[in-house]
Amino acid sequence: MTDLTKLYGCKVFNEAAMRKYLAPEAYESLRRTQTEGLPLDPKLAPIIANGMKEWAIQMGATHYTHWFQPLTNITAGKHDSFIEPTGDGEITLEFSSKALVKGEPDASSFPSGGLRATFEARGYTAWDPTSPAFVRDGTLYIPTAFCAYTGQALDQKTPLLRSMEAINKQTLRLLRLLGNTTTHCVTPTVGAEQEYFLVDRALYEKRLDLKVCGRTLLGAKPPKGQELDDHYCGRIRLRVSEYMHALDEALWSLGVPGKTKHNEAAPAQHELAPVFDSANIACDHNQLTMEVMRIVAKKHGLACLLHEKPFAGVNGSGKHNNYSLSTDDGKNLLSPSKDPAKNKQFLLILCGFLQAVDQYGDLLRASAACAGNDHRLGGNEAPPAIISVFLGEKLTQTLLNVAQGASSEDQERSLLHTGVSALPDLEKDDSDRNRTSPFAFTGNKFEFRTVGSSQSIAMPNVVLNTALAEAFSQFCQRLEKAEDVEKEIDAIIADVVRQHSRIIFNGNNYSAAWREEAKRRGLPMLSSSVEAFDALIDPKNIALFQKFGVLDESECHSRHEISLENYTKVLTIEAATMIEMVRRQIYPAVVKYIGDVAQSVNQMRSAGCTAASVVTLLENLTVLADQIDSELSALRAAYAKSLSIEDVHEHAQYMCKTITGCMESLRTACDAVEKIMDSERWPIPTYTDLLLRV
Ligand code: ADP
Ligand code: MG
Repeated sequence: MTDLTKLYGCKVFNEAAMRKYLAPEAYESLRRTQTEGLPLDPKLAPIIANGMKEWAIQMGATHYTHWFQPLTNITAGKHDSFIEPTGDGEITLEFSSKALVKGEPDASSFPSGGLRATFEARGYTAWDPTSPAFVRDGTLYIPTAFCAYTGQALDQKTPLLRSMEAINKQTLRLLRLLGNTTTHCVTPTVGAEQEYFLVDRALYEKRLDLKVCGRTLLGAKPPKGQELDDHYCGRIRLRVSEYMHALDEALWSLGVPGKTKHNEAAPAQHELAPVFDSANIACDHNQLTMEVMRIVAKKHGLACLLHEKPFAGVNGSGKHNNYSLSTDDGKNLLSPSKDPAKNKQFLLILCGFLQAVDQYGDLLRASAACAGNDHRLGGNEAPPAIISVFLGEKLTQTLLNVAQGASSEDQERSLLHTGVSALPDLEKDDSDRNRTSPFAFTGNKFEFRTVGSSQSIAMPNVVLNTALAEAFSQFCQRLEKAEDVEKEIDAIIADVVRQHSRIIFNGNNYSAAWREEAKRRGLPMLSSSVEAFDALIDPKNIALFQKFGVLDESECHSRHEISLENYTKVLTIEAATMIEMVRRQIYPAVVKYIGDVAQSVNQMRSAGCTAASVVTLLENLTVLADQIDSELSALRAAYAKSLSIEDVHEHAQYMCKTITGCMESLRTACDAVEKIMDSERWPIPTYTDLLLRV
């Protein structure tokens, strides 16, 4: 039996390791940086570097790496050994403070979205002391931020840290105005539930689309999908259970607090949820989780699919981003307490969320946009691309009551009036759990469910932190000027309800009626990523990021361009993969089968049979083969054309509109022929093989 208390964090330069390997002064300083975000005394860096090195070597490390998160949704880092030749054929093991604090990887091989063209290719990594270092496979991993020569962010972490400072500052400012004198630090807390699929490795290896694109580009619907609802939280099969156990152990040793695991709705789909942590650490941990999930799967003869929609027709995978604000004196600011109607602080904070999501819903949508998520959003059991907030009937009513009760009679009437017209046809929903909402209040936190399973959670949290900081800063401005703070709080709540309650929707977000209703309310409806990305360069959003020093204008443009480029690249690879599979696997198999069937017809006829049904089969096959051929030609032509489009935006749009359409038509023809072919002759594993044979 493993001693879990010893296993947990055994590879992390954690509190115990820091205490053991650092002088008390350095330990105290590093702890304060980690808990309160205070700057680290640079004089202490050499002591910390040395302590870290001693610890890492004792853990079996020979190398160290500056681990960073470029704008690719995965992590990177080059590994340097500790060895330093002394000149007499021997070595010493060195790790200077400079090596800890700063690295200089070549930035030119990472996406920079135009930032690189105007500046030096060199990039810098800067140690993030607020996220603990760890040892993995003989290397000391040092979490770092990654910037261009000029300090512009080329990564996920830098804006996340900047936005955490912004929300800390604005929330503290608000709390002070509400009379709080004890809180010194406010941290956004995040728990990212990670959904994934597991398929048999040998079958996975036989499908080029899964290997190259992470999703199936072809595949007829299996006889049994998720219709019976028998997978969600059902018994975990032995092979999967063994995988999950190994995954938990690997994550626990790295200090990732994996907590909940269960089967998800689709066959072969599962979920892992950690205990929440600060947004920064949660983001690092989620990246690690995704990496470890893939590695452990390989060791277990499985493949872990993190794509948002590996299989058409069944649930896709998301990453529910649970979010709240927590104070250093242990309070969750979204905790409604026993009587939320009397808890004005809670209601004010809640109003901050409503305002933030309503004003920056387009940015939130953009933060969860990627090629993969386009297949998921609005599909089976996934939230639609329209951002709205679920509060539940009770809380909504409480908020409406407070907003109305707090105002003078005149306002009261107009409030009642506007309140009703802003919330038309609220569908009754008695349960306090709404699984269809993209942004749901779940008791003492919000759950942002739009985020895709393969994505970094950094950007969604950057947007949440910054948009909330803006809402709070507006509240603060009013409260700072107010003569009667209590009255002003009521007025703010009333104003937010009047201006922003269109964002509240407690009904069924999957319904067609909601689409109509959302249109009426004027909520942004950005169904494709390509449309959604433009929010990143909307002047209102650039102004927001600039105001709080989270992203400057060039950084916004850079992110916009990278998002479009990534999108185009993904679709280009998908189209090329599909062309290859259809040309070299599917079409030849169909032709061969047609030959065999034709031969059967001849043989049957010479034996005196009419062979009517076989002739029908032959005809159907031939029609479909022709269809595949013509759709393939269309895709090839469109693909060739796409390669000549130079403008980034136009290119992405072409991929989104034309290429996806061609791929869909080709898929339809291939899936139709799959259904009537001899299964023995189908050249790739089917949906049944993949989904039901783990
Ligand atoms: P669900 O019912 O959606 O499965 P859970 O109770 O399992 O919800 O929690 C989902 C995630 O929410 C977990 O990762 C959990 O740690 C996280 N969570 C809980 N409280 C908070 C909080 N205050 N801030 C951020 N995340 C939280
Ligand atoms: Mg959840």
